[in-house]
Amino acid sequence: MIAAVALLVACAFTITVCYIGFCLVFPWGTCVRCAPGGKNRTCRACNGTGMRPRLGWQLYVYLRRLYR
Ligand SMILES: [Zn+2]
Repeated sequence: MIAAVALLVACAFTITVCYIGFCLVFPWGTCVRCAPGGKNRTCRACNGTGMRPRLGWQLYVYLRRLYR
C-alpha cells in the first residue's frame, strides 16, 4: 500500500516538474477563445494577440514577484 502511494506521489511529482519545465520553455500558449478560428482583434482574453501566457508561467511570475 505504501509503495503504491509512493509511486503515485512520484508520478505526480514527475508530471508537475515536466509541466513546469514545459511552461518555462514555451511560456506562451494559443488563446483558447479566438486562436482556433483565427485571431480576433476584439478578444479580451488575449488582447487580440492570439497568445496567452500559460497558467504555469503566470504562477512562476507570481512566485518570482513574491520572493523578491
Ligand atoms: Zn484571444
